[in-house]
Amino acid sequence: MPNPMIDLHAHTHFSDGTDSPEALALAADTAGLEALALTDHDTVDGLPRFLGMQTSVKARLIPGTELSCRFLGRSLHVLGLFVDPFDKVFQARLAEFRKSRDERNLRMVARLNELGVALTLEQVEVHRTGPVVSRVHMAVALVESGAVKSIPEAFNRYLADHAPGFVPRQELDPPTAARWIWEAGGLPLIAHPGRFAGRSFGWDEAMDDLRGAGMAGFEAYYGEYGPAEQAYFLELAARKGMAPSGGSDYHGANKPGLSLGVGRGCLRVPGEVLEGLEAARARGAWN
Ligand code: AMP
Ligand code: MN
Ligand code: MN
Ligand code: MN
Repeated sequence: MPNPMIDLHAHTHFSDGTDSPEALALAADTAGLEALALTDHDTVDGLPRFLGMQTSVKARLIPGTELSCRFLGRSLHVLGLFVDPFDKVFQARLAEFRKSRDERNLRMVARLNELGVALTLEQVEVHRTGPVVSRVHMAVALVESGAVKSIPEAFNRYLADHAPGFVPRQELDPPTAARWIWEAGGLPLIAHPGRFAGRSFGWDEAMDDLRGAGMAGFEAYYGEYGPAEQAYFLELAARKGMAPSGGSDYHGANKPGLSLGVGRGCLRVPGEVLEGLEAARARGAWN
């Protein structure tokens, strides 16, 4: 195939997407992808079903996950590509980490009630489709209750970081996230750095810190970047000697207008990116 494309960031209903692992794997072929990674938040539980589809699809299916970290007082997401879904230590670490969501969800519902929004934890829990109940499920419940008209409106008015209904949850420090991922056989990569901070941020120093924490690279291609952001982060990756990665952050119907492979329409992650990531993984931690 000329110009093979890949997508190394996507979600299913095991976290806050809407597709099943099987549907996602089939969609990789429909989209003409050479490779696709499943990277659900805080869990590897959907990966056996996803990887089980390898005999039915042409696209190479890659295991992954996405963990939330705290860095410089803000939320920084870290992808772990190639993690072993059957690693018992990693599974136990993730199960413990997920517990912090339960308390946070309770506190967010209470906060919303204080703001005059009628919502119960049960109304959120009915939207549970796997081991993770996230703010996206809360947004769906708010739409269903009539409090807002859409998921984006739910985030803008109530749920986004720093919006009135937001309550933080436990987040890992970057060295811990990187170590968990390396120890599970994976490759730690910073997800969507452009969403953490834009191009005017002090990325040179921050990337040195994050590389020192064990991060092997970052998403220079992303479903919600424009061309200028992509060019900036590609250049930064080359300059820092870090591996560029990329993906759409597809969530199915929970992120309307964002498609597998092409993101909002302009995304193209070239196949060579995967070779660079495999080389970084072969070099191992802190090299
Ligand atoms: P949580 O993991 O519960 O903190 O929820 C975070 C998830 O909410 C992210 O993974 C995104 O899928 C989604 N999200 C975060 N901010 C927004 C936003 N402004 N609009 C829509 N979805 C968002
Ligand atoms: Mn998400
Ligand atoms: Mn993310
Ligand atoms: Mn994601």
